[in-house]
Amino acid sequence: MRIMFLGTSAATSCPLVFCNCTVCKNGRTKKGKDIRKRSSLLINEDLLIDLGPDVPTSSSMYNIDLTKVKYILQTHGHSDHFDAGHLITRLQEYAPENVENISLLASKGTIKSLNRRLKAEEPDANLFDEDWQRRLSMDIRYMDNGDCIKLGRYFITAVESLHDISENSLIYVVNSNEKSILYGTDLLRLSDRAWDTLKRFELDVVILDHTYGEGFNAGGHLDSGQVIDIITKMKIEKIIHENSMIYATHISHEGNDIHEVMDKLVNKNGYHIAYDGLELNL
Ligand SMILES: [Zn+2]
Ligand SMILES: [Zn+2]
Ligand SMILES: [Zn+2]
Repeated sequence: MRIMFLGTSAATSCPLVFCNCTVCKNGRTKKGKDIRKRSSLLINEDLLIDLGPDVPTSSSMYNIDLTKVKYILQTHGHSDHFDAGHLITRLQEYAPENVENISLLASKGTIKSLNRRLKAEEPDANLFDEDWQRRLSMDIRYMDNGDCIKLGRYFITAVESLHDISENSLIYVVNSNEKSILYGTDLLRLSDRAWDTLKRFELDVVILDHTYGEGFNAGGHLDSGQVIDIITKMKIEKIIHENSMIYATHISHEGNDIHEVMDKLVNKNGYHIAYDGLELNL
């Protein structure tokens, strides 16, 4: 499996539009790994996690043909993870070419949220209507904590994230060719139910929400200390093994440092900081 980080920032992007802190200033002047687009992940060429606002920019930057995407796993509907305007361009009225069917997976609450955002663009749109699904060349599968479905060469398992309980936001384990990846953003904490689901796996790659650095936590997400706690428990529960790779994503400027400094610091705690365009091959 090939994994590519299309974006690794929190909702704010990095640099923030109106911020001159060291992290933001560094991104703006030195660019490189300190420029972060809104979080999204591509697995091989056909599985996208989160249709975020910066996905088209990433596709141009990294030479990705998004018409090859057959499956979208949607964690939740927040605006840094879902841009309804991108979905709308699948309608015939926008004259897209080579539009193949996409299976969209999300919780029912998230589909409701995506539908609200879609209606803001196209008032008659309705993701729950089969005719509209056909017009968008999509089918929709509802997921809940512990559900596992087969999609082509993948097995997808949903895990609850508690990040937005009004939507029943989810994170996902993707399994293919005997390799398992957890994409774990946005994540508030792992509930007992979530741990029970994760205990089914021995994960090769773990990607975790790392919105805040040490001493900062404005809520809704993990900070660096909580990431370390999860890694420790995963080791105890044998959910990860000696060679598992662990990456942090959804990085904000709050309490985090520039990439080079932060990555060195967290390596001591057994994980890495992801960056936009990073590719992992399993
Ligand atoms: Zn987010
Ligand atoms: Zn800043
Ligand atoms: Zn969110």
